[in-house]
This record gives sequence, C-alpha cells and structure tokens, in this order.
Amino acid sequence: MVTLSSDYLGGTITRIRLFASAPNTALAQALCDHLQQLGATRSDVVALDADGDGADLAICIAGEADDAVAALNRRLSRQALPCLFVHVDGGRAQLGPWTYYGHTPCWACYRTTLRFFRGQPQLADHGGSADPAVFVPFVTAQLLALLRGESALIGGAVLAVGGGEADAARALKDPLCEVCSIWSRQPTEAFYVQQD
Ligand SMILES: [Zn+2]
Repeated sequence: MVTLSSDYLGGTITRIRLFASAPNTALAQALCDHLQQLGATRSDVVALDADGDGADLAICIAGEADDAVAALNRRLSRQALPCLFVHVDGGRAQLGPWTYYGHTPCWACYRTTLRFFRGQPQLADHGGSADPAVFVPFVTAQLLALLRGESALIGGAVLAVGGGEADAARALKDPLCEVCSIWSRQPTEAFYVQQD
C-alpha cells in the first residue's frame, strides 16, 4: 500500500471523502475505488449534504446543484477541510477550483469572479471528459501532483479533465468572499485603488 503523504498539506492523507450529486455517484465511486488502491484506505462517497468529519481531504463532484455545493463550501470552510471541486455537466468535466481555505480561492470566490472575467475558457468551450476511463486517471494524477505541491491547480488553474494547462481558466480569490475571506469576517484590513 502506498501512503499518501503531503508536505504541502502537512500530513498524511488516509481518508478522502467524495461528495457527489446524485447523477455523479457512479463516477465518484469509480474514482473512490481507484483512490482506495493508492492508499487512501477509508475513502467513501457521500451526498452533498453530508459532513466531512474524520476526512483529511474532500472532493466535490457536482454540476447542477449550485445551492447544495454553496452550502457544502461553507461547511468545509468552517472545518478548514481542503476540497477539490469538480464540475460535471453533460458528459464534460472541469477540475477546480482547488480550495485550501485561507490559501487558495474557494468555490464561492470562483463563482463570483467568473462574472467579472467573462473571457475565461468555459466548460462548454473546451470540453473535458466525464468518461471514467479518462476522468479517473486524470483526476488521480492531478490529486497526487497537488499533494506534492506541484499542480497548476494550486496557482488557481481550472482544468478541463483530459486537457492541459494551456486552455485553463483561472480561479481568483475574492477579497470580499463571504465564505473564505478574512476581510469579510474581521474588517481590520483595507484595499484601495489610488487614482492620480
Ligand atoms: Zn472564497
């Protein structure tokens, strides 16, 4: 058995909890089975409204359940449980944002900033595959790179599953994010634009 350890996250990963919306349960289970073989020995698949207790890492696989994903993002933020968000829609899949609370953009940051950067590649533009034969090895490889601190996801890339960084969208931290921003919870910092 390979142990999943991560200097980047500062510990050993023994339990990955996969949160999946109902249409994506089978895809999540295929990924879960593969992760078990890699050493995340107590990984499981649960519904979006489950909790993350006991997990070291979360993966959220959903596409159509924005309210449920938003609520999950808030719960994971309170637990400071890192989560890789995966968007699946119509046979296509997109990986990101990688949310390491306090360090990288959260799901709410990404959804907010997308509205202001409309030129970014969208799922409908660059495809990405939700075919398990492509999805499982790609997501696993990116996850292992993440644990080594080497994935483009850490810099905010949002990747088409099966694609490369060249057509990646970018997740940006929202300084006013009501979920993950320290500023919004503790207004002791300011930012401004000087015009002269
Ligand atoms: Zn946020």
